[in-house]
Amino acid sequence: MTTGHPYSSRTRHRSRRRRPLWILLAVTTSVVLLAVAVVVALALRPPGPRPLFQLPVACGETWQLGTYPGHDDYDVDLFPTEGEAWGRPVLASYAGRVTVAGINGSLGGRTPENPDGPRGRGGGYWVKIDHGGRWETQYLHLLEEPLVRVGQRVAQGQQIGRVGSTGNSGAPHLHYEQRRGWQKVETYFDGAPSGITHDDAEYTVARTSQNCPAGS
Ligand SMILES: [Zn+2]
Repeated sequence: MTTGHPYSSRTRHRSRRRRPLWILLAVTTSVVLLAVAVVVALALRPPGPRPLFQLPVACGETWQLGTYPGHDDYDVDLFPTEGEAWGRPVLASYAGRVTVAGINGSLGGRTPENPDGPRGRGGGYWVKIDHGGRWETQYLHLLEEPLVRVGQRVAQGQQIGRVGSTGNSGAPHLHYEQRRGWQKVETYFDGAPSGITHDDAEYTVARTSQNCPAGS
């Protein structure tokens, strides 16, 4: 009589321990599968319409947009047509949320005081903004730490940094890109294409910024 008790209690004990493990496994698997499905769905969703991007420089200023062999198709380097490039305000092309604000590669040592200092690698100080609808812009070679931080919402025309020559940059300028999904695309400003579509040759176009405060 008494020997049966420990046996049956052990059996009950074992089954009590197993059931939660199965439930835990099933729940975990479902959550992981759901998360993967959500990520895939978000990544595959079609891009939204092109935002009305503006030049990433001050309202009314004319800048030279250029590229050169070995740059990369669609990449644009901006140089002011008047005055020094060093320290000029870099503005958000369109409203969005900052997804990167930091250092790409290495900074090097090119400053206004020492413009021929050691060249860095990559983008130097840079900012990336997510504009929604899978559209992004990025801004490279900034002079110093960006004026914005990751997660921050920015308005169109808001200053995000200053023009510099950090990273792999020969002279102070702003390297700028527009991306749709994972792809770089031809940059558009104020609704018109820039015409910078290949890097087979060195060429420039001049554009005047319409990145003006609302209502002006
Ligand atoms: Zn560039």
